[in-house]
Amino acid sequence: MRRPLVAGNWKMFTDPSTARKLAGELKEKFADCTWVDVVVCPPFTSIQAVVGSLDGSNIEVGGQNLHWESEGAFTGEISAAMLLSSGCKWVIIGHSERRAYFSETDKRVLSKARSALAAGLKPIVCVGETLDQREADITEKIVEAQLDGGLGDIDDIGHLTIAYEPVWAIGTGKNATPQQAEEVHGFIRKLLAEHWGAKAAESTRILYGGSVKPENASALWREENIDGFLVGGASLKADSFLRIAESVK
Ligand code: PEP
Repeated sequence: MRRPLVAGNWKMFTDPSTARKLAGELKEKFADCTWVDVVVCPPFTSIQAVVGSLDGSNIEVGGQNLHWESEGAFTGEISAAMLLSSGCKWVIIGHSERRAYFSETDKRVLSKARSALAAGLKPIVCVGETLDQREADITEKIVEAQLDGGLGDIDDIGHLTIAYEPVWAIGTGKNATPQQAEEVHGFIRKLLAEHWGAKAAESTRILYGGSVKPENASALWREENIDGFLVGGASLKADSFLRIAESVK
């Protein structure tokens, strides 16, 4: 039985003061959420404030990106070790916004996932097709290539989580129907089994992301292969994030 997970991607929102306030509200509101793992991923500059605010709570903190090297002359970058030492336990890798705006390739995703796993961070690796790709009926081909290219070389996927996020559903208000999401989640689980064996496939959580809101979370959650959510916009309000967490009971 996979334990549900809801992760909030705060993107480039909040400063340390607003992040501290939001984290304080989450700490209070999520105090009784024993059935679900909860993670929030603030911008780098708010991580320390959030870690401090969440001290003693059941909510863990993650980064939104990392560099694959542990240190070096990489201006503007942050490593797995730096995230860990700031109190992060998780990191989002290969988000579609990073792939689209920062030319992040599957090869980069692979080096980042490797680096996160080696450092002991739990990566949430994002995959998903664009609208053109869905309309051309090549969703499975795209997701398979992203998984093969982004993780294929890794022997032990250990603490990995996958997030299926159709690009056309992110921040658009258009979410995939439960059936559309389940089809791809089932396909991903099959690929995991083929590549890493049935045990790894059974224990790996596959999150859905893309305009998840309190209003659509329960229907998505009923699907067999949806193990929780990666939430953008709706994670910036404590109440809506809580209602999403309550829907995965
Ligand atoms: C995301 O940023 O990963 C995301 C799914 O965003 P939203 O929930 O706002 O669509």
